[in-house]
Amino acid sequence: MFRIMAARSVFFYLMSGVLCYSASHQQETLQDCLLAKAVPTSLNSSSNWGALTSAYNLRLPYTPIAVTLPATPQHVSDSVTCAATAGVKVQARSGGHSYGSYSLGGKNGSLVVDLQKFNSISLDKGEPHHGSPFIQTQT
Ligand SMILES: Cc1cc2nc3c(=O)[nH]c(=O)nc-3n(C[C@H](O)[C@H](O)[C@H](O)COP(=O)(O)OP(=O)(O)OC[C@H]3O[C@@H](n4cnc5c(N)ncnc54)[C@H](O)[C@@H]3O)c2cc1C
Repeated sequence: MFRIMAARSVFFYLMSGVLCYSASHQQETLQDCLLAKAVPTSLNSSSNWGALTSAYNLRLPYTPIAVTLPATPQHVSDSVTCAATAGVKVQARSGGHSYGSYSLGGKNGSLVVDLQKFNSISLDKGEPHHGSPFIQTQT
């Protein structure tokens, strides 16, 4: 009985070490990638972190691994690429009113792509979209 308990303790100790290493490795891989691609990013040490990660539904306060603030479509693309490289779930955030806190990832440790800088409207008068409006998500 004692042996089984000791084996279990050792197993859980080793597993928690593996999980900690895996999480910090993911964070490092993600941050290096976003930095290399010059994607505007907020981390939990940033002054705007609290405002960017506050949940609308306070019962589901998930904590992302990082938040990107893309200003261009390329930044959005790079955010998704970096998340995939690091093996991190990626989630878009527009108004942030999701009851399930899905725009915070719906679970801890996701990369949130905050679209607050996508706030313009343009009108394409040319063919073939004759008169089509393009409205960004934060408008
Ligand atoms: C008080 C209140 C009343 C509501 N009333 C209604 C109602 O009457 N009818 C109704 O239908 N809903 C209602 N809702 C639900 C709300 O409208 C939806 O949750 C809606 O998605 C909120 O939009 P948002 O921009 O805040 O989304 P967010 O919370 O930012 O995102 C919601 C989901 O959409 C995804 N997403 C956001 N932006 C993008 C994007 N650009 N591209 C791809 N995915 C994206 C997110 O990842 C997330 O999964 C209500 C919510 C609240 C809080």
